[in-house]
Amino acid sequence: MQQHDTQELRQQDSRHHLHPFTDTKELGDNSRIITRAEGIYIYDSEGNRILDAMAGLWCVNLGYGRQELVDAAQQQMQELPYYNNFFKTAHPPAIKLAKKLTELAPEHINHVFFTGSGSESNDTVVRMVRRYWQLKGQPEKTVIIGRRNGYHGSTVAGASLGGMAPMHEQGGPMLPDIEHIAQPYWFGEGREMDPQEFGLLAARSLEQKIKTLGVERVAAFIAEPVQGAGGVIIPPESYWPEIQRICDHYGILLIADEVICGFGRVGQWFGSQHFNIKPDLMPIAKGLSSGYLPIGGVLVGDRVADLLIEQGGEFYHGFTYSGHPACAAVALRNLELLEQEGVIDRVRDVTGPYFARQWATLASHPLVGEARSLGLLGALELVADKGTMARFAPGIGSQCRDNCFQSGIVMRSVGETMVVSPPLVITEAEIDQLVTLARRSLDLTARQLG
Ligand code: PLP
Repeated sequence: MQQHDTQELRQQDSRHHLHPFTDTKELGDNSRIITRAEGIYIYDSEGNRILDAMAGLWCVNLGYGRQELVDAAQQQMQELPYYNNFFKTAHPPAIKLAKKLTELAPEHINHVFFTGSGSESNDTVVRMVRRYWQLKGQPEKTVIIGRRNGYHGSTVAGASLGGMAPMHEQGGPMLPDIEHIAQPYWFGEGREMDPQEFGLLAARSLEQKIKTLGVERVAAFIAEPVQGAGGVIIPPESYWPEIQRICDHYGILLIADEVICGFGRVGQWFGSQHFNIKPDLMPIAKGLSSGYLPIGGVLVGDRVADLLIEQGGEFYHGFTYSGHPACAAVALRNLELLEQEGVIDRVRDVTGPYFARQWATLASHPLVGEARSLGLLGALELVADKGTMARFAPGIGSQCRDNCFQSGIVMRSVGETMVVSPPLVITEAEIDQLVTLARRSLDLTARQLG
């Protein structure tokens, strides 16, 4: 095993490395250096073992240390480390992965466009959607409607589609012709209403927006089946059927961003299948390769693909690493393993329901206003007063997140919401441990508050 000088690494890190989503000045020489991982655990340079309840960044679905994925990468790197899929060429890993993905996807989806990440997938979505309406003879249909507090990536198109106000405030303007509607966040924004009524109301804000803009301008609606980075916001059951009805009624394209929900996170291959919706486009990434190598894509439904193929001619779009052979080989092996080992069925039938029961016990903690989950996604709402559900001043989430690290677990904070998304291979015993460590972190936070 490699030895690391933690202090030296930290100094070099703060001197030279601009981290994503980090206040570099505040970080100083304090980065936590992760050096290895196995199963659901990561290890830092000081030898601490930490339960990774976030599966990296919602992506290490098969867990760490899978030799089969290492072997797939090595074999492909030796045989053909790189070639592209531009200008009428292709290679076996990209072809086989495309076939496999379209077998797993809902029936009306038979094509995939490969990218290197979720953000690139959403950039691709914007170009594809606008091209679609241009080919339909309605080029004025350019507006894409997203949701406040949605997350679709960090490229200009990804940040614009997303509804993260702090991202919009930095270095605008964002892309034109992107609009946002309300999110279906019952705990945060609709608690005085019945959840199903609230779900309908949130969905109908799409209809309102279409009417305000004029349907002749609206191209598509984009949303995550469950908002991940926004705080694991699980919509009421009434929400998605109403969204589907509105998209169908007005003939606009429905885009389900499956970057987190895809590949088993909620107990189906895709979140759209859980919610029984029929998206025209599904951006994917993360769990596609369990995060072992960077790869993403857009699953393209027949409505869009047929027009692009039949009438579109050359699509002037693509990335050097679209369908990169080593990434595609690892992704293909990852999908085979998820299938052969019945990982997703286990999430649906065994670990998801078990997690739901255990996670729900945290609702009795004095700091927790709500404990919700779906599949292997979970969230805790931190409140100062369980009677009124009054919130703490900002900062409680990051305080609790730091305490999680102290307690030996990675959880993420989104404002005052703590979220988890563990590897899908987590066992029932490990779920018990996850919940125990989460409780310990909450206790520590409560003690600090006095
Ligand atoms: N879409 C969703 C729903 C995401 O959660 C993310 C990343 O967290 C992205 C897109 C962007 O993916 P990437 O970070 O691979 O660009």
